[in-house]
Amino acid sequence: MNPWFGKAIILASSVVMVLIRTPHGQRSRGVKVVRSRRGALEIVLLTLAWGAFFVPLVWVAAPVFAFADYPLRPVPLSAGIVCLAVGLWLFARSHADLGTNWSITLEVREKHQLVTQGIYRALRHPMYSALLLYSLGQALVVPNWIAGPSYAVAMSLLFAFRLGPEERMMLEEFGKDYEAYIVRTKRLVPGIW
Ligand code: SAH
Repeated sequence: MNPWFGKAIILASSVVMVLIRTPHGQRSRGVKVVRSRRGALEIVLLTLAWGAFFVPLVWVAAPVFAFADYPLRPVPLSAGIVCLAVGLWLFARSHADLGTNWSITLEVREKHQLVTQGIYRALRHPMYSALLLYSLGQALVVPNWIAGPSYAVAMSLLFAFRLGPEERMMLEEFGKDYEAYIVRTKRLVPGIW
């Protein structure tokens, strides 16, 4: 198949992702941060994630990674489109439910509220599930061994090192309420983990 199918989908999904995040990001930045847990490792992994988000776009625009291209096939392309669509839907839902409590990193904002409703009723980290699903979609849609999995690798690393510290931070902040919330919810996959 023509790789431009993959290229068009990556361009469109990247634009949708930025459009979903921008208004929420702007609103959250208007609320003061009262505590931050952004350590050196978090900064390194966040920078890596940012860079990895642009790698598929570089692949779309220039032949830098052409040596790692492989043919695009309909089955992975279709599965990838489903992952991207569900990932973007979940991303929008979790942003809407989290409201101004959202941060790009580990932070507690002024009058921070513990969200346990909406999509957070079932999962503690639906936004990370969304981003992992989205990055899996990218890996399937981009027929290149570097640009395809780059975001999935960066996101997996970021979340592997962040989940524990984030939950500890929430426990310190919300105590028994978060403890009870942990008991009745899963982390990333509904009903499983
Ligand atoms: N891990 C969540 C949130 C990602 S945004 C998810 O994947 O959906 C990261 C910030 O969200 C953290 O700095 C923390 O302050 C905040 N946060 C995480 N879980 C929260 C919750 N249930 N209610 C309110 N804020 C939360």
